[in-house]
Amino acid sequence: LNGAEVAELRAAFPYFATPPEVDGRAVAYLDAAATSQRPARVLDAERSFLEHANAAVHRGTSQAVGTATELFEGARAAVAGFVGAAAPEQIVFAENATDALNLVALGIAEANAGTGLGVDGSERYALGAGDEILVTEAEHHANLIPWQRLAKKTGAALRYIPVDEHGLWSLDDARAAMNSRTRIFAFAHVSNVTGYLAPVAELTALARAVGAITVLDACQSVPHLPVDFGELGIDFAAFSGHKMLGPNGIGVLYGRPELLAALPPARTGGSIITKVTMEDAEFLPPPMRFEAGTQPVSQVVGLGAAVAFSTEVGMERAAAREHELVERLVDGILAAPGIRLLGPQGVDGRVALAAVSVDGLHAHDVGQFLDQQGVLVRVGHHCAQPLHRALGMASSTRASVHLTTTEEEVDRFLDALRGAQRYFGVEATR
Ligand code: PMP
Repeated sequence: LNGAEVAELRAAFPYFATPPEVDGRAVAYLDAAATSQRPARVLDAERSFLEHANAAVHRGTSQAVGTATELFEGARAAVAGFVGAAAPEQIVFAENATDALNLVALGIAEANAGTGLGVDGSERYALGAGDEILVTEAEHHANLIPWQRLAKKTGAALRYIPVDEHGLWSLDDARAAMNSRTRIFAFAHVSNVTGYLAPVAELTALARAVGAITVLDACQSVPHLPVDFGELGIDFAAFSGHKMLGPNGIGVLYGRPELLAALPPARTGGSIITKVTMEDAEFLPPPMRFEAGTQPVSQVVGLGAAVAFSTEVGMERAAAREHELVERLVDGILAAPGIRLLGPQGVDGRVALAAVSVDGLHAHDVGQFLDQQGVLVRVGHHCAQPLHRALGMASSTRASVHLTTTEEEVDRFLDALRGAQRYFGVEATR
């Protein structure tokens, strides 16, 4: 994507066409890792659905319901194609990535609370004392707390791969942490703090060799890279619509067919059943089994539009463009005295973001200064307290890029960091 193409892309986003201003100057939006802005096409798809086609999907026999259901299921098929699922049935709609991860952890707890087996009698989900759930110290709380609870409920042990002084871990670390008792390995494809890109295919192969199920937190990869879950060999994956140019209130759980088929639904109620008596219920096959109650249909339609938009831009092109921006970001950070870069000490193996800690300054002071300059970033622990604790800090300042980001925005972040050092009198000479 060259400068003219980026300008054309930005024009397709109402937010960037008429951005909010600070002191008469357009803001530099560098917080896509928290939530992305939406192209008009996504907003229009939602609005047009609500204005002209709104109906109760999968309920009733009217033509209107049929049309709405086609749009809903069409979006499911589009998402499936986008992430390399062999069939739309491998895509379950959830509220967000957090919810999708909980569907897996709670479903496994449910399997263990009953027979210790999945609904199809599979032993894949049997967990108990002596078994291990493996995560990393770098996980977002959404991919940590559900596993903590599952471990407590089942008596399994929660183990983690520790991070090094940069917040990183490796394939060798994972190999050392896995053994024949490892039943589940849950990790982020791309860390939302370090930007570290995990070697997923190699990790899933390791896990498969010990008989463990793999769960991928793909929140920060699907919006930025071409991703093919089938090729990566992952068992489950979760991501959120609002980070990939789509609506909020919609997330996705991807699963391998045989594993989804064996996973009990964490939530029960209407539209997920084949037969209900006063004593019991039988459930539909996936994905419907997991989609209890009325679904967020306009959000699903919007997500379908986001996928179409991203596909037309091309995820390879978007990834290449973002790589250039991250290189500029990281080079600028590494050249600045008194600023510590978290994660890989360069652009290699890093996706879409960079978090820093400024010597002598609290991240909230940095964040406030940047905010006054109209540079919108994220400060805090980014829902990764254990990672920050391991790095000896309470919080950091994160800038994240997207396909709409400009070089000028990256430079404004770098200038504002130096400005904060000057303002607070902590200029370092190295
Ligand atoms: N995992 C990662 C790596 C994330 O970056 C986020 C969002 N900050 C989440 C999980 C949770 O996403 P959501 O809040 O949309 O459920």
